[in-house]
Amino acid sequence: MSKSFDVVVIGGGPGGYIAAIRAAQLGLQTACIDEWATAEGKPALGGTCTNVGCIPSKALLQSSENYEHVAHGYAEHGIQVKGLALDLAQMLKRKDKVVRQNNDGIIYLFKKNKVTFFHGRGSFTGGSAGAWQVKVTGKDAETLAAKHVVIATGSTPRPLPGVPFDNKLVLDNAGALAIPDVPRKLGVIGAGVIGLEMGSVWRRLGAEVTMLEMLETFLPAADEAVSKEAWKIFTKNQGLNIVLGASIARVAPTKKGVTLEYSIKGGGEQKLECDRLIVSIGRVPNTLGLGADAVKLKLDSRGFVEVDAECRTGLPNVWAIGDVVRGPMLAHKAEEEGVAVAERIAGKHGHVDFNTVPWVIYTAPEIAWVGKTEQQLKSEGVQYRAGQFPFMANGRARALGDTRGFVKFVADAATDRILGVHIIGPMASEMIAEAVVAMEFKAASEDIALICHAHPSLSEAMKEAALAVSKRTLNL
Ligand SMILES: Cc1cc2nc3c(=O)[nH]c(=O)nc-3n(C[C@H](O)[C@H](O)[C@H](O)COP(=O)(O)OP(=O)(O)OC[C@H]3O[C@@H](n4cnc5c(N)ncnc54)[C@H](O)[C@@H]3O)c2cc1C
Repeated sequence: MSKSFDVVVIGGGPGGYIAAIRAAQLGLQTACIDEWATAEGKPALGGTCTNVGCIPSKALLQSSENYEHVAHGYAEHGIQVKGLALDLAQMLKRKDKVVRQNNDGIIYLFKKNKVTFFHGRGSFTGGSAGAWQVKVTGKDAETLAAKHVVIATGSTPRPLPGVPFDNKLVLDNAGALAIPDVPRKLGVIGAGVIGLEMGSVWRRLGAEVTMLEMLETFLPAADEAVSKEAWKIFTKNQGLNIVLGASIARVAPTKKGVTLEYSIKGGGEQKLECDRLIVSIGRVPNTLGLGADAVKLKLDSRGFVEVDAECRTGLPNVWAIGDVVRGPMLAHKAEEEGVAVAERIAGKHGHVDFNTVPWVIYTAPEIAWVGKTEQQLKSEGVQYRAGQFPFMANGRARALGDTRGFVKFVADAATDRILGVHIIGPMASEMIAEAVVAMEFKAASEDIALICHAHPSLSEAMKEAALAVSKRTLNL
């Protein structure tokens, strides 16, 4: 006999667990299957994000930033610290504790919302519209029948062709978050979000970091003004050695570390010896063991589950969300899709606005943006006005001792509607929320310019950048 549910969610990452909670809140009998386990074999809900992604990376970014502040930033405040020492084992232990708190939090939320959890792998074994069969293998082996199935199986790191991850010398994101000693020389392939965040952590802790990036443009998705500023800060001020246009010819793990051979345009053959190598060249959708063939679930040429704009697969009542489908690989995008799908299953209206999904890079300073970049508007032929305000002229930033970066608005030239907001500076990850709200409410830059912002606060830079759109800054 199989157990029957209205909704079975396969995958308990931010997409899946949120979809399950919302479905249960809407009165649907809901189960969630997730196979992630701790080293002791216990369930570790939360997927990539909680276990080896967003949460542990931010824990280590915070710890390493604290360390760097004490080492280099406190003297200016009149705080002398003698005998500073790094206890990396404790730093990693704290990171693991933060992860466990989040894992346990999701177990609690499942109990609270009456989501039935199965620890193991979920695979389609057959079925048809309204009666899908999903087999759980592993600890909670079971056969389930489901009216609706939500696939939320996420993504896995992409290895370099012919260079498998061993997580000793050649590290994926999980390995990069658990290096037991600070490498003297660290190589990073890929200067995207994950590479920059991981490179920053280990640089702050003392590693000499070289990043090899295939593209010739640094952070091409960001507004050009932001990527230029970031380049200057990361390379000149912080000493990250970022090589653009690098084409990797050979990666050879040796007894002592890793040897890389690469070439750069006009620069000939180059060699890099490092103690460890992080490979962060993107992620691939994860449909391993899902039993896609058993139900003829359609994948696209890159292995993503094919869905329409509302996350419907080609199979009736089978939905897919998060990293395993098209769109940005971001936890909050996965969550939004999870909620929207649960609402649609319950017969309600679900909605995700991809134009207002914020992007954040948690370097120091942080980088965050929402909406269109100036270069996108130019290529689309949109007439716009831009306004920019530097943190250098913001009182709170001066008091904090962090005046790097700026806020930039781009607004429609005719209607003044905000088309994009780009921030590089302290707490950009928090400040971008104001821009998201404004854009969701179709605000004009003048709306932000006319709103009272607390003084002194970093958010005043938002107001000033909005004022700058109509050349009305007050503090510059
Ligand atoms: C180092 C790093 C840092 C990141 N930082 C951020 C950040 O700061 N902000 C942000 O928005 N995003 C960040 N991301 C991206 C973010 O982690 C992902 O976008 C997000 O986790 C995707 O959520 P998901 O639910 O689609 O999939 P996942 O989180 O990958 O979860 C999928 C889950 O499904 C399980 N699963 C897979 N197949 C099966 C099966 N057949 N049966 C049972 N279980 C299965 C997996 O074990 C996993 O637990 C980061 C990623 C990395 C690697």
